Amino acid sequence: MPRPRKCKKICYLPHNLEFRPVTESANESCVFLTLVEFETIRLIDKEGLSQEECGERMEVARTTVQQIYTSARRKLAEVLVEGLPLKIAGGDYRICEGEGFHCGCGGCKKRRTRMENGDHKEEE
Ligand SMILES: [Zn+2]
Repeated sequence: MPRPRKCKKICYLPHNLEFRPVTESANESCVFLTLVEFETIRLIDKEGLSQEECGERMEVARTTVQQIYTSARRKLAEVLVEGLPLKIAGGDYRICEGEGFHCGCGGCKKRRTRMENGDHKEEE
């Protein structure tokens, strides 16, 4: 049964939205990672959360996290193995406002203001 798409809460915007291999590849294609996929990599691989904990932070079901995470891992593998450029953008998300019970982050509002100003790069 279809359920309404729910925005995934993300607590972090990456400093770098674009990565390029040092050696130009013959292949022109580029891998696009969504900000939601990025967030699962950050929470699970960088912060060491379980998929369940990640789902709590992002306010989605664990099974949804699993799908997103699998997709994210596949894309990162493609980047590394094929030597492709990577861009991070878009996705079905909303920026955390530090309101959530499970939110361990600080300064989300500040990040959001910066993002609305289109000012990613100055985040320290
Ligand atoms: Zn947050």
